[in-house]
Amino acid sequence: MNNLTHETKLTLLYITVAFLFSVAVRMIWFYQFGDYEPFHHNGQFMINTNDGYYWAEGARDILSGVSQANDRSPITTAASQLTALFAFILPFSFESVILFMPVFLSSLIVIPIILIARSIKNLEMGFVAALLASIAWSYYNRTMIGYYDTDMLNIVLPVFLLWSIIWAIRTNEDKYLLITAIDILIYRWWYPQSYSLEFSFFALILLYALVWDRKNIYNYKLLAIMMLAMVGLEGYIRVILVFGVFYIYKQKELDKYIYYILAASIALFFISGGFNPIWGKLKSYVFKDAVTVGKEGMELHFYSVMQTVREAGHIPFEIFANRISGHVVTFVASVVGFIYLAYRHKIMLFGVPLIGLGFLAYVGGLRFTIYAVPVLAFGVAFLITEAARFMPTKRLKFLAITALTLAVLYPNITHVQEYRVPTVFNSNEVKVLEELRKIADREDYVVAWWDYGYPLRYYSDVKTLIDGGKHSGDVNFPVSFMLTNSQDVSAKMARLDVEYTEKKFKFIEENKEMIRDKNLTIFSNIEQMTKDYGFSDTNDFLLSLQTDIKLPEKSRDIYFYLPHRMIDIYPTVEIFSNINLMNGDMKKSSLFYATKMFQQKENIIMLGQGIEFDLQNKTVTSNKQSVPIKRFVQTSYDKSMKFSKDIQIANSLADITIIYMSSYNTFLVVDEKTYNSLYIQLMVLEEYDKALFKEVIMTPQAKVYRLKV
Ligand code: MG
Repeated sequence: MNNLTHETKLTLLYITVAFLFSVAVRMIWFYQFGDYEPFHHNGQFMINTNDGYYWAEGARDILSGVSQANDRSPITTAASQLTALFAFILPFSFESVILFMPVFLSSLIVIPIILIARSIKNLEMGFVAALLASIAWSYYNRTMIGYYDTDMLNIVLPVFLLWSIIWAIRTNEDKYLLITAIDILIYRWWYPQSYSLEFSFFALILLYALVWDRKNIYNYKLLAIMMLAMVGLEGYIRVILVFGVFYIYKQKELDKYIYYILAASIALFFISGGFNPIWGKLKSYVFKDAVTVGKEGMELHFYSVMQTVREAGHIPFEIFANRISGHVVTFVASVVGFIYLAYRHKIMLFGVPLIGLGFLAYVGGLRFTIYAVPVLAFGVAFLITEAARFMPTKRLKFLAITALTLAVLYPNITHVQEYRVPTVFNSNEVKVLEELRKIADREDYVVAWWDYGYPLRYYSDVKTLIDGGKHSGDVNFPVSFMLTNSQDVSAKMARLDVEYTEKKFKFIEENKEMIRDKNLTIFSNIEQMTKDYGFSDTNDFLLSLQTDIKLPEKSRDIYFYLPHRMIDIYPTVEIFSNINLMNGDMKKSSLFYATKMFQQKENIIMLGQGIEFDLQNKTVTSNKQSVPIKRFVQTSYDKSMKFSKDIQIANSLADITIIYMSSYNTFLVVDEKTYNSLYIQLMVLEEYDKALFKEVIMTPQAKVYRLKV
């Protein structure tokens, strides 16, 4: 240690302290929930992001060596591979590894931040920026403990890239050529969509080289090696290219060929299709409406997920600022500070692509804000250290930095304390899924809404029709249809959709070349079914499900997973099949109202939203209009968890049913279509057709049935 310079020692000290700070803040959630049982499984907290179960499934399959065709398990992704590696070499449980990976990996961000600051000889700025960036609002939200997703390195890697580019440009040392290229290789491996940032960095360096530093051959070396790391070829080929060109760089007599190498690397980039994803992105922005589906097909109109998530059109400035810096004042100071910093140290302008991507949040959605966090943290940190320079004594300088830093951190730490997100599932639900794993075969399908797809596959090791990455309108339609229509048609649709899904996998597998060469359109299952059953109108096909149609041969078992929590999203689930596929017209949505907030006054139960239920007269009043109800149903579990229900018919001609789920303290107001839906009948009432379904697992949290057809 004695050989290290004072500056290096200080750098290491700052990195260590900032890293520990970042980890410690992420432990607040862990201690807040302590030993709260519903969040635990196998003696550890469960994760709190749905997508995490996707990577976890891949890692599990890598470790066990089991992989099936078309199971959608991501065994070739970096996140799953890195997880499997950690789980293999570390002495902790798999649950602990995925819980803590975001804590430790995302905290690595403090390293490049402090090293960047070191390059402009302002370590204190780096330290303050590292403290802020590592826990700033949106960065925390997406890298907190249990937020096991690619975000844990998605910012760390480009900030490392920024660091190596800055050091490369400043020092012109050969090693930074290699480090920059390796960083790109790793970043691309981790996050294939990383090309947009890499390309912006490349463009910025090119601009810098051409305008300010044209004669410096080092810049072209840097550009060429970056380009080779970015070309559209397999990872291992890019590794060979990068090391190959680095070897050439080392031979100084070959320097005169650098321009040819750069030209060749750019040519290779285009030839190998490296530009295609960028071009595709541009095209989709410029020609927004040009997206067409299967011209030669029936052009069915599916409900798009974008329509449900499109709440984002306008993001209020305050939310935007909070998410980047924790507070509007900090954000404004950060922007002003960054401009000042870039004025004093031009090299910091290389951070602009990250800010740019962060500001994309205004059009692309809030998830982009995290990119701006680290670079703007430099801004406010620079202002703080500049302010401290005016302090007359060392002690006052220290006090000023400390006070201002605490002020900047304070709103972010408050946010962490208030951000008490739950785990994706609770322990009772997971028990059901683990039970199901013992019953179902790996090749069996479980029908459930896409929110439960990844966790189902992880805990039960089964196949699913839809999940967090496969939930477009055409695949959601059949599942939505099954859950919200009556048992007989839903049962048929389940068998059809599963067999058609498998058949399609096979078809694509066997006709890969033809599909590619002839640009063959693959039709949605529902369209294929309509044609196969001899209809030209999908509505007629759907009606025919009520008749005795011949179903495809059964190739495997199908289960229905029906969690109680789906009550909250039932109307959303229904939307996807409540559409006329032929012309895109939305049908009138069914009546579904659930509430836990109700009050009884004598014979009237007030259900909120102005809805009143008259127990005596068996009427329901809404908007001053009273109508008779068809049934009043009461369900309950007794002490030994035995389910029972009591159905009173009030007026058989009426349409509305009121269900009081006493054990859940919940009232449901539903119309006849909803009442007869598979979800209500099988989950809420346990009223199932014994010819179509078999009980498998029955708990208050979730019920599993097996399809008999
Ligand atoms: Mg599997």
